[in-house]
This record gives sequence, C-alpha cells and structure tokens, in this order.
Amino acid sequence: MLDSIKDVVRKSSIHVCIVNCGGCNGCDVECVALLSPRYDLEQYGIYVHNNPREADVLLLTGAVTEQWRENLKRVYDKAPEPKIVVAIGNCPQSGDVFNQEGGHVYAPASDFVPVDAAVSGCPPRPSEILEAILAVGPQAIADRGREKR
Ligand code: SF4
Repeated sequence: MLDSIKDVVRKSSIHVCIVNCGGCNGCDVECVALLSPRYDLEQYGIYVHNNPREADVLLLTGAVTEQWRENLKRVYDKAPEPKIVVAIGNCPQSGDVFNQEGGHVYAPASDFVPVDAAVSGCPPRPSEILEAILAVGPQAIADRGREKR
C-alpha cells in the first residue's frame, strides 16, 4: 500500500537528494536556500530530503575526496532508475580550489557516475540550481511513467 502511494507521489513530483562529496559547503548552503520563502522550491513540486533511495535527482556538490571515490558510486546505485545527476558548482567538475598539486581530490565526478547536467559557479546562484533541476528533472519523471506502462 505504502509503495503504491509512493509511486503516485513520485509520478507528479521531483525528489531531490543533496550529496556532498567533499566541498566547503558553500554550494550546499545555496541548495538549501531554495527552501526559503524567496525561492519556495516546493511550489514547483520539488522536495529535498536525505534519502537517495527516494531520489529522482541527485544534486552533487564537492570535489570527490578520497573517501568519496567509492561512496559516490554506492550512493548513486541506491537511487532508483531512472535518475538524474546534476553537478552543482565548479568542484564536481574540476575540483576548483581544492585541486592542488599533491592534493587528494578526484574530480571530475563524471569519472565515477554519469552526470546529466552541470551548473558552474563557486557557488552558483540558487536560481541557477533551480533552473538546472527544472531542465532535467521532468525527464526523469516522464521516463518513470514510460517504465510503468
Ligand atoms: S564550488 Fe566553490 S562554493 Fe561550491 S563547494 Fe566548491 S569551493 Fe565551495
């Protein structure tokens, strides 16, 4: 019963999980700002939570530290298909300020999981993050509808 309710809800809303794979938290703060009344993320039917098993969209922040080399794929595998990955900020693309000689960051994140969209910036604006979610999230929902048929 609960599973069928979840299916109905997931067909008409986008569930987002923030995955910080080793950054300064600046991008995470901008993602969380989307929940403020100024952006009111939920008006678009987008919900943020911590569980990748419920996610349509994984918002990836951070530069992929040593610990995240294996964990990133493990978290990615927990999200149900079809899923979308959006890399938020410069870190998941290049390592940005953490990409120093002798450092231990392993960006780009796309070496570990498929990345569908990327938003550059250090950090990007919440409105840019929102645009990216709205650009790719509905496709995940549409693909889910096709899978059910
Ligand atoms: S892109 Fe910039 S703000 Fe975002 S986690 Fe990296 S250093 Fe921090």
